[in-house]
Amino acid sequence: MAARRPSAYPPPVKVGEFVQAPEAEEDERIDVGVVFVGAGPAGLAGAIRLGQLLGDDPATAERLGETPIAVLDKGRVVGAHLLSGAVVNPSALRDLLPGEDVATLPGCFGPVTKEAVYLMSKSFEVRIPTPPPFHNKGNLVFSLSQLGRHMAELAEELGAMVLPETDAQRLLVADGAVRGVKTGDKGLGREGEPLGSYEPGVEVHAQATVLSEGTQGHLARAAMEQFGLRGEFPQAWSLGVKEVWRVAKPLDHVIHTLGWPFRTTRKDREIGGSFIYPMGPDMVAIGLVLGLDYRDSTLSVHDSLQLFKTHPLVRQLLEGGERIGWGAKTIPEGGFLALPSSLSMPGAVLTGDSAGFVNVPKLKGIHYAMRSGMLAAEAIYEQLQAGQDLSAPDALAGYDQRVQASHIWSDLKKVRNMRQALGKGFALGGPIGGMMDISRGALPPGNWKFHGDAEAAVEPHPGKRVYPAPDGKLTFDKLSSVFLSGNRSRDDQPNHIRIQENVPREVAEAWMAMCPAAVYEIGRDDGGPTVQLKLAPSNCVQCGAITAKGGRLTPPEGGSGPEYSNM
Ligand SMILES: Cc1cc2nc3c(=O)[nH]c(=O)nc-3n(C[C@H](O)[C@H](O)[C@H](O)COP(=O)(O)OP(=O)(O)OC[C@H]3O[C@@H](n4cnc5c(N)ncnc54)[C@H](O)[C@@H]3O)c2cc1C
Ligand code: SF4
Repeated sequence: MAARRPSAYPPPVKVGEFVQAPEAEEDERIDVGVVFVGAGPAGLAGAIRLGQLLGDDPATAERLGETPIAVLDKGRVVGAHLLSGAVVNPSALRDLLPGEDVATLPGCFGPVTKEAVYLMSKSFEVRIPTPPPFHNKGNLVFSLSQLGRHMAELAEELGAMVLPETDAQRLLVADGAVRGVKTGDKGLGREGEPLGSYEPGVEVHAQATVLSEGTQGHLARAAMEQFGLRGEFPQAWSLGVKEVWRVAKPLDHVIHTLGWPFRTTRKDREIGGSFIYPMGPDMVAIGLVLGLDYRDSTLSVHDSLQLFKTHPLVRQLLEGGERIGWGAKTIPEGGFLALPSSLSMPGAVLTGDSAGFVNVPKLKGIHYAMRSGMLAAEAIYEQLQAGQDLSAPDALAGYDQRVQASHIWSDLKKVRNMRQALGKGFALGGPIGGMMDISRGALPPGNWKFHGDAEAAVEPHPGKRVYPAPDGKLTFDKLSSVFLSGNRSRDDQPNHIRIQENVPREVAEAWMAMCPAAVYEIGRDDGGPTVQLKLAPSNCVQCGAITAKGGRLTPPEGGSGPEYSNM
């Protein structure tokens, strides 16, 4: 069995490889007050909140130097790597922008007024009463990439320096505290050799570093390893593949589906479903989400979404329309039991998806990301104002306390056993989930154990999956999807994906099928126990699935990857 477990083939990564001591002289580095690594809802809400607090307190702002706040993001522009559903609980946004009608913000498509949930089979569907986690009335539909762009402008108006195309590659650590980050080199060739366009990375030194890298945070993970912050259970993820369609007929309600095209028995462990959200009068977002501890090595979420669109219920929604956006991203699903043992460390804090703040049954993480960014800003500001040294042990423990006192903690605690319950198959997991909801998390008692996604042995399911042939109208292949993501990564840059390249066929096939961007291909097979994988890293849309399933994604050169505009 071990042969078919992806975790038996760990990626070639050295301990401490992504951590280094600061070494740049004053004139070779950038000194900032607080650096936010990642311009998603967590980092941007944090930068805005800190900007507001410093705006009312020029004395503290002055002590932070010329650049009190910096926000780094690896996307070509802010929002380029932001992808979500997204039905947003507006509570955090309202608190962040008091007096603002958040329903009129750029990227908002209005409130949810109607909703429907269906149980799907291959050719028909049954509408079921909306389970409580799917109640969304009053929440707002957003394009997160568009909202992110607007939030970056607000942060800049409040004095933040926002730097896109900037990948944070290493955590700077000295004397037991985080001192900032080192950004990646640019203009390297395939073997790491400097090309004509070469620019070395720079050290960004900061009094506090907010890790807001989202799902599969590269430095968040390095920090957790460095400071021993692993949670009770390992993190687990799902993969979401999403399309945006321009449609002929408006959709006036939010749809969620369960069941087909996934197999919902306990043995198969295909825990997932779809979301279909209206985006104004002529656009629709449609996506499929699947827990990555599934077993079928032929399972592809990308191709399952193509199959899903051929269902009569879905086909008629998209009829006469055009696919105008595509993307993929993972979602941390370990919940409360996979949270780090501490959210702060000397000089740094973990926020948003990097900490694992996602409510799995509700498919909601944006308001937790924003709230955690805001709480981080408040905890940091409190210490700065008091003239404290943020690199001291426990200097940022106020952030942990704030999160523990917030709805993030109580909400996630209530649903801590939900993913485990659903792993028992729909027939058993559904009623247990209902009981959990009614008892507000008291039942079932205790903490139910789970394993990392890469621990699940993979093999082809005897009931072969047949995906539809791409017709270029309703159904598409992976390469045309990657093209639509706006990915224009340089083909000749170093490989940023760390995997073992000789693995058993089942593992190779599982990676090949799983990757929504056609990065892996089986190369040489000389009949031995393993086959060789060939990689096309420039196709990668940085969804993070390979990290969940046994490899490790590291950030490529800043500005690479997708350029989402309506995700
Ligand atoms: C398919 C899908 C559907 C979802 N639907 C919903 C929904 O309907 N409602 C909801 O509330 N939530 C939803 N979520 C979850 C939600 O999107 C996330 O919880 C939320 O976006 C997390 O915010 P964040 O700021 O922590 O991270 P992100 O939004 O991921 O932002 C992180 C940013 O950091 C940047 N970054 C990462 N690493 C580095 C680095 N090393 N250097 C520089 N930059 C870096 C990335 O480029 C990115 O821009 C969904 C997620 C997915 C994938
Ligand atoms: S190679 Fe890139 S796109 Fe493919 S699974 Fe890994 S992270 Fe996702």
